[in-house]
Amino acid sequence: MNIHEYQAKELLAKFGVPVPAGHAALSVEEAVEAAKKLPGPLYVVKAQIHAGGRGKGKFVELGPDAKGGVRLAKTLDEVKAHATDMLGNTLVTIQTGEAGKQVNRLYVTDGVDIEKEFYLAVLVDRATGRVAMVVSTEGGMDIETVAHDTPEKIHTLDIDPATGFMPHHGRAVAAALGLTGDLAKQAQNVAAKLYDAFLGTDAAQIEINPLAITGDNKLMVLDAKVGFDSNALFRHKDLMELRDETEEDPMELEASKHDLAYIKLDGDIGCMVNGAGLAMATMDIIKLNGAFPANFLDVGGGASKEKVTSAFKIILSDPAVKGILVNIFGGIMRCDIIAEGIVAAAKEVHLSVPLVVRLEGTNVAEGKKILSESGLDIVPANDLGDAAKKIVAQVKVAA
Ligand code: ADP
Ligand code: MG
Repeated sequence: MNIHEYQAKELLAKFGVPVPAGHAALSVEEAVEAAKKLPGPLYVVKAQIHAGGRGKGKFVELGPDAKGGVRLAKTLDEVKAHATDMLGNTLVTIQTGEAGKQVNRLYVTDGVDIEKEFYLAVLVDRATGRVAMVVSTEGGMDIETVAHDTPEKIHTLDIDPATGFMPHHGRAVAAALGLTGDLAKQAQNVAAKLYDAFLGTDAAQIEINPLAITGDNKLMVLDAKVGFDSNALFRHKDLMELRDETEEDPMELEASKHDLAYIKLDGDIGCMVNGAGLAMATMDIIKLNGAFPANFLDVGGGASKEKVTSAFKIILSDPAVKGILVNIFGGIMRCDIIAEGIVAAAKEVHLSVPLVVRLEGTNVAEGKKILSESGLDIVPANDLGDAAKKIVAQVKVAA
């Protein structure tokens, strides 16, 4: 689960991380009120969407010459003008995809005099299985570009979970940023606090870009992207309240409400599978047969009829889906329950695409009988290979 920049900064501030003052706003009036509470004379109006690259982004409605989603303002009138420009309009950045994202919230924050911009991220390094801190002097720009063009400018520090963040980690961060004296001390402090915040919130990532040195030699977090490990959210009821459902894919959101593991993909064959491993194998075999899956969907081991029905509805609500492959191994889950769910859902939602079903396992005969007697146009398959061939062929014929 990701949160907005203003929420991330409020959270980090609680852990003692230095951030400029600022206030969120949902309307032009609120944006001006927010600015009035700040000392001035420089304000920054920032679009709040769950995507980076806002500064260089473009508003669809404003044309290519208009400014992006991070704008400086020297007066309250300028704050008002920027807020009017941004609210309700669609911002396209390198991270939003072509469709962009509608801006419904702003963050009005203190304008800071920037001497230098750094990059600092805390994340889980899957190769080492440890929390890692990624640091670079090349802040303020796209870190993927830095990693590609000048990988030597990116330093990665592993943190041993047995010791946690040690003073030497802090010194290594300061050294990687080329800082000495008081600024080095500040860097050590910021890094330690970010590590605390990462562990304390069960974060998946905390990305600070930029971490800036200000004109009066202070280190400040000017942009923060924070995401949490969804599997740990049950431990953080307060963080769950930060969720902004309008930022999430509607189908993924619906799936999460039914406790289904669903990820939307680019292909046209919808998949409903039980077990993550079987789901991966199913996606692979669809590709092997020359087509692409429209989603990953694991209905889980002990899914109920209702769960299967909602899974089916979610797949069918995706306009890209040209055919559906159901691949279920009835171990814990019985095949007849799955069959009932499929029939119920297909009757409830108008089934307009080919459906291939491969059932195997407990009560498979009963399951197959329910499907064949349903009066629905369901193509049965005997095994995984057969199922994949049949659905790919059906979709090709329909196209
Ligand atoms: P994004 O990464 O989405 O483009 P940022 O918050 O990083 O958004 O803003 C882009 C750039 O705008 C920053 O690299 C920084 O140069 C400038 N900026 C952001 N916040 C401030 C601020 N409070 N004061 C001055 N400049 C800022
Ligand atoms: Mg940024």
